[in-house]
Amino acid sequence: MTQAHAPERTCVGCGKKQPKSLLHRLVLNEQHQPVLDRTQAAPGRGAYLCGPGCLAAAIKRKALQRAFKMHVALDVVIDLEAALQTRS
Ligand SMILES: [Zn+2]
Repeated sequence: MTQAHAPERTCVGCGKKQPKSLLHRLVLNEQHQPVLDRTQAAPGRGAYLCGPGCLAAAIKRKALQRAFKMHVALDVVIDLEAALQTRS
């Protein structure tokens, strides 16, 4: 057995595994729009991205729909991209 370490998640854009703390967590709101989960603790299924570039890749690959296993409204992606760029 290896030592316990930070949980890792796979970025839905590039497929790279990273510690959860380095990734942006996305969740769907009631309108099925992907929003940034700044608390990393919103209930429900999440998708992880390492940066704005990976958002575009994820959309191209329809990876968000796969990650959430449902329809994803992509009309707010511009806002999302901005949110990813202004990481505190
Ligand atoms: Zn990535």
